[in-house]
Amino acid sequence: MHILLLGSGGREHALAWKIAASPLVTKLWCAPGNAGIAREAECVALDIADHAAVIGFCKRNAIELVVVGPETPLAAGIVDDLADAGIKAFGPGKQAALLEGSKGFTKALCTEFGIPTASYGRFGNAADALAYVREHGAPIVVKADGLAAGKGVVVAMTRAEAEAAVAMMFDGAFGKAGAEVVIEEYLVGREISFFALSDGETAIALASAQDHKRVFDQDQGPNTGGMGAYSPTPFVTPEIHGQIMEKIIRPTVAGMKARGTPFRGVLYAGVMLTAEGPKLFEYNVRFGDPECQVLMLRMMSDIVPAMLACCDGQLKNFDIRWFSEAALTVVMAARGYPGDYAKGTRIEGLDDASMLDGVEVFHAGTIEKEGAILANGGRVLNVCALGRTVVEAQRRAYAAIDRIRWVDGFCRRDIGWQAVEREKALK
Ligand code: AMP
Repeated sequence: MHILLLGSGGREHALAWKIAASPLVTKLWCAPGNAGIAREAECVALDIADHAAVIGFCKRNAIELVVVGPETPLAAGIVDDLADAGIKAFGPGKQAALLEGSKGFTKALCTEFGIPTASYGRFGNAADALAYVREHGAPIVVKADGLAAGKGVVVAMTRAEAEAAVAMMFDGAFGKAGAEVVIEEYLVGREISFFALSDGETAIALASAQDHKRVFDQDQGPNTGGMGAYSPTPFVTPEIHGQIMEKIIRPTVAGMKARGTPFRGVLYAGVMLTAEGPKLFEYNVRFGDPECQVLMLRMMSDIVPAMLACCDGQLKNFDIRWFSEAALTVVMAARGYPGDYAKGTRIEGLDDASMLDGVEVFHAGTIEKEGAILANGGRVLNVCALGRTVVEAQRRAYAAIDRIRWVDGFCRRDIGWQAVEREKALK
């Protein structure tokens, strides 16, 4: 098969690594890719926002499957445009991508189909939103309706913070994405990520994961795109796994089908494990980054037939097998991230790091110049490892990091701490 992967981050490097390992694949391209992806695929300088250009490339190269990594092209309807041109693509169409593209859309679906979530209101003007905040008090959560690059949520611990968030959103801080605002109940509990595949009718679970959003150890400092992750999370017991599938994932897939906009692709549910059971607080319609990296490491089955089954409505009799090991990934970022940082600094020791048992280094933001690997983004590397336990995976990942020579980079040293504390307590 000829496959084209869209995207350029660590998520896409992990996908490229997994797709390239499939015996079904004769050639893999990635647009635009990065220096690590270039080892698995031929990188092409296509503008993925230009759907006509992507279609033209697919036609010229007899592409049989397009795999879409990030959310922006999904929300822009690239899967529909490819389908219209007769090209199969893994990911939801534009309507189904609203599960990520509009918080209000997802809340309405939850209400219609009885999916457990925080109580909420949806507002198109500041006065009504402020009245809701005054009525319900703090803590309360204010969310821009649309895509805001992960920055559109304010968890307000005081009423003043909530009011400021409402004002900021209706003042246009997130442009069109903030023209509507969802305000919801503050959920108390442990937050986990849960991934499932859907072919529009059937959903099958992938795995659970835990990410680490804050930039510094002990969950200090500003939020980021994610500084590390591990899978599985011990807090998703078989019982909770069953509840998430039955109460959240399956009703979502059934609801989307009933509405005539079936969801095909990866459903990534942000779930709070509350005293009343698991509650959904957000959907994403693609793999998480860096959660995808740990999922790909743990997946034993070939991913390509699973993606084809999603596109073709054939998930019903599908099963995905997993390695029993835990996987953990640590993000190495450029000093200064998530604020300003320098590009073009030199990274050495990557081959040395990759030689360690169970270790895989994925590139998130790198370029190659004259044989050297240079940092080219905020999040730059994902140093990943498998281990019999999270403790072992963590030890291996940090041993690999200690072999990487990059004076301008940094990472958290405590990725996986929740599971590590738990494993130590159980001993
Ligand atoms: P989101 O962009 O929806 O993932 O929200 C960003 C972060 O805000 C999440 O990772 C949660 O930590 C937090 N959050 C979102 N919704 C709620 C909620 N209803 N209650 C408490 N925390 C929330």
